[in-house]
Amino acid sequence: MRSCDVLIVGGGPAGSTAAWQLRRAGVDVLVLDRERFPRLKLCAGWITPEAVRDLDMDLAAYPHRLLTFPRLRVHLGRLHVPVPCVQHSIRRFEFDAWLLERSGAPLEQHNVRRIARDGDGFVIDDAFRCRWLIGAGGTRCPVYRTLFRELNPRASELQIVTLEHEIQYDWQDSDCHLWFFAHGLPGYSWYVPKEQGWLNVGVGGIAERLKRGGQDIRQHWAHLTAMLEGRLAPGARYDPSGYSYYLRGRVDVVRRDHAFITGDAAGLATRDLGEGIGPAIRSGLRAAQAIVAGAPYRLEDVTGASVGSIARSMLGRATRASVFSGRRQTPGGGPAHGLRHRDQ
Ligand SMILES: Cc1cc2nc3c(=O)[nH]c(=O)nc-3n(C[C@H](O)[C@H](O)[C@H](O)COP(=O)(O)OP(=O)(O)OC[C@H]3O[C@@H](n4cnc5c(N)ncnc54)[C@H](O)[C@@H]3O)c2cc1C
Repeated sequence: MRSCDVLIVGGGPAGSTAAWQLRRAGVDVLVLDRERFPRLKLCAGWITPEAVRDLDMDLAAYPHRLLTFPRLRVHLGRLHVPVPCVQHSIRRFEFDAWLLERSGAPLEQHNVRRIARDGDGFVIDDAFRCRWLIGAGGTRCPVYRTLFRELNPRASELQIVTLEHEIQYDWQDSDCHLWFFAHGLPGYSWYVPKEQGWLNVGVGGIAERLKRGGQDIRQHWAHLTAMLEGRLAPGARYDPSGYSYYLRGRVDVVRRDHAFITGDAAGLATRDLGEGIGPAIRSGLRAAQAIVAGAPYRLEDVTGASVGSIARSMLGRATRASVFSGRRQTPGGGPAHGLRHRDQ
């Protein structure tokens, strides 16, 4: 049986951030993930300046695709509003693998099934023993399921369903677009360009409200692609995939003795926009600090709403834009440094 001080289930942003902090403090940590990295993660890949700061990232040195938006284009019915603020896009396929590698933590491909208490620690699948356990396995995290679900049931009205596709496509409009409530969608659709001619488009909405209104997320996908064909991405070919996760509700119990839940495992995606990368990162940091420094594990400073973060970025933009400027896109979707369509 393999032993370690801290075992992290899941190598997404929550797990890799916790691993990075723990390794920095010299802790013996092991990450288990059922997938082999780099792995596909359905996600638009929009990240905020806060997430960049939490990760202590030097944007100019990031070795993969990263685009900086000087504004978001928000559409609400006939209202079309450019919102000046600094935000970024990455590809999760690259970003998550990079974060994990940067953490310096050992990673094993293993699908966690059984978690049993063992004194003040845990035994996983009769194969791993640890004193501390961090659940970072996303929506279907086995740590949440085994140790937290009964105490912290998820609210069905906070479940969102999504359909999205990330494609290689020579986009011409380098802005990020968000369409709210189009055709009665209880959510929004997005168009998120990535550096070097990649594009992510998708729709997301509250599952219960869609059902109540007799709607199907696929109808909304059809509306989105028809609109993109006419305006933003003519000729693009899509093959969307679906995923469901939970927006932030009450999260009463996020720690039980030596076990923690973080990120989507704790249901931390923001209530307004379903932004989950930043909350995953922040909660991973806090779980690591709780272990290393004996700090309380609290989620008060894990944002529950993205609007505040966008407003802060708007306010800070005038004075601090250069700090977050990252990389600028060139017209026609071409990269600033001339590389194109690097293979995955
Ligand atoms: C379509 C879509 C678009 C989104 N767009 C955005 C966006 O633009 N910006 C944003 O901030 N958020 C976005 N989100 C939300 C964001 O993707 C998540 O909130 C974020 O990935 C949560 O990170 P995490 O580390 O908690 O979990 P994840 O990133 O889901 O990582 C969990 C990891 O755990 C592993 N795992 C799961 N079960 C097991 C097991 N049994 N054993 C071992 N390993 C396991 C998985 O393989 C995975 O690697 C989007 C979500 C969707 C579905």
